[in-house]
Amino acid sequence: MVARPVVLADANSFFASCETVFHPGLQGRPVVVLSNNDGCVVARSPQAKRLGIANGVPWFTIRSQAEQDGVVARSSNYELYASLSARMMSIMRTFLPNQEIYSIDECFLDALPSSSQTLQACRSMRDSVLKGIGIPISVGVAHTKTLAKISNHWAKSHVSAHGITRWDDIARDQGKNVLTEIPIDEVWGVGRRLSRRLQALGMVNAWDLHEADPASIRHRFSVQLERTVLELRGIPCVEAGDDASQGRRTTQILCSRMFSHPVTGWEMMGQALSVYAQKACRRLRNQGSLCAQVSAFCSTSPHDDEHEYVTLHGTTQLSNPCDDPLTIAKAACDALRERFDGHARFVRAGVLLLSLVDAAQFHTLEGLDARRDTHGLGEVLDDAARRFGPARVGIGYGGIRGHDRGNEDTGAQWTMRREMLSSRSTTRWDEMAVVHAV
Ligand SMILES: [Mg+2]
Repeated sequence: MVARPVVLADANSFFASCETVFHPGLQGRPVVVLSNNDGCVVARSPQAKRLGIANGVPWFTIRSQAEQDGVVARSSNYELYASLSARMMSIMRTFLPNQEIYSIDECFLDALPSSSQTLQACRSMRDSVLKGIGIPISVGVAHTKTLAKISNHWAKSHVSAHGITRWDDIARDQGKNVLTEIPIDEVWGVGRRLSRRLQALGMVNAWDLHEADPASIRHRFSVQLERTVLELRGIPCVEAGDDASQGRRTTQILCSRMFSHPVTGWEMMGQALSVYAQKACRRLRNQGSLCAQVSAFCSTSPHDDEHEYVTLHGTTQLSNPCDDPLTIAKAACDALRERFDGHARFVRAGVLLLSLVDAAQFHTLEGLDARRDTHGLGEVLDDAARRFGPARVGIGYGGIRGHDRGNEDTGAQWTMRREMLSSRSTTRWDEMAVVHAV
């Protein structure tokens, strides 16, 4: 029996599309969304892409030209995006079974018994999301997740597809051409580091990988990459939740931010590290892991010509793997305290949790148990964050709700700059959209 195809639904330019939902005047205009602190471009509307604006480019380097071109820039408004994402996902799951949410703007679903039923459901799903949320999505249908990703990409870049592409339809005449046009590093699950090694062996596009010998790929690389080869040939290998290689359960957790103003004293740096450690810890608990190593780092601006560039890094080894926010926040501060330079003007800091192990699988000798969060503190913090928003409650002073509260996110003086933030219309009463009748 041939397994049913999978459907990948993915929003088009999701963040930029969200920005137009409550500001319809932005429709059809070049819109870019900037990363934390309004640093780099992280999302672009199709019109902004057409202007040649690259993803990841620092905003200050293109700002004057972009403004001349009529580009509208927005600070990233994750509160709005998360809320619209939840609504979008809830609509999508009414059309097809077994939704597996893969990222904020994409999910896998199962196809229906016949391909005509599936196509019809995909069309209705697309129309409903556009009508109900105001966000355009594209859909790829294939027998493997890797090919569904590729079909989805095809649907996005070919107007004639009307937003929906079935791999079987394009594979018949042009499968080889389609795969040849996809650079190796854009194949799902390959990534930049692996693609460099593959390129060195002469494999530069998806077709080259499709043609590779699966056994030797497993030998030289990994079982995961062998699966990718088979998936490109239409043999399903990536199961639901079987996502270690695709990043669902990560092997390290990073929380790193730019500050809105340079930080000089240890007191403020300690606050920032503690808050970042707590954020990282929440993700650690969410994915059911424990960590055995906590790294912390901070650096000054590489663009500051007047001062020497300083970057500091330290790691604390924990005696037992744990998920306790108190232990981890303390370990992050311990990692940097000794080497901290009070004269430097730091603009970025971060906390990295390493040596992660699966909490459910972790056993030690009697009396040497993993130091779990025995006080239940993490759970209480997570619960408070869910009910009252982030950074209402935390460990230590953290600068949160401090005097001269500068920022809604944590209230601390060092938090992000978001000068071009749009309204959070779906989550804040005082920022609801206003409609004027004429
Ligand atoms: Mg997308």
